[in-house]
Amino acid sequence: MSNPNTAPPQTHLITHPLVQHKLTLMRKKEASTNSFRTLLNEISMLMAYEVTRDMAMQDVEIQTPLEAMTAKVIDGKKLVLVSILRAGTGILDGMLSVVPGARVGHIGLYRDPDTLQAVEYYFKMPKDMQERDVVVVDPMLATGNSAVAAVSRLKQLSPKSIKFVCLLTCPEGISTFHKAHPDVPIYTAAIDRQLNEHGYILPGLGDAGDRIFGTQ
Ligand code: URA
Repeated sequence: MSNPNTAPPQTHLITHPLVQHKLTLMRKKEASTNSFRTLLNEISMLMAYEVTRDMAMQDVEIQTPLEAMTAKVIDGKKLVLVSILRAGTGILDGMLSVVPGARVGHIGLYRDPDTLQAVEYYFKMPKDMQERDVVVVDPMLATGNSAVAAVSRLKQLSPKSIKFVCLLTCPEGISTFHKAHPDVPIYTAAIDRQLNEHGYILPGLGDAGDRIFGTQ
């Protein structure tokens, strides 16, 4: 269930109770690394359901035990899930379990701690990107700088479409992202209150990468 009425334009707020419940469990500071990762995996599967809602389908001829029929299939190979390293991996795994045929790209960006600007250190995509639909994943759309840089870089390869999926965002992140990329829809489970001076989302859930990988 996505609720377009309470979100800014081009922003899909996924209000499904299962997603919201799991997100609340993840936010708790006492959630273990194991349960944080498991919950992120489960939420990502549920979010994939919304994000792929308008995926193109094609007809195939199949045989049931009783008769021949024309049935629908999606072409998972046309979909590229692009993970922004390193925290994007947490969403990628859940989405891949729902769309196992998807191709995968990686973008390595780190946030310069002084300027909060994104610096690219890795970029690897499947070939024929101009024939593919891209879903970029990163749990936190915070300052928006990494997301803007990732999508700008991907646009150089002219994919058919781009969507951006995060778990959490904030008004500053949405505004920065959509100033740069008004054509790219955001899918998120929550729009939190604000960013703090270190670029963290409040109330948020802390550092998503550290919580996924237990590196804190
Ligand atoms: N990245 C995170 O992991 N958490 C935030 O709150 C903001 C950016």
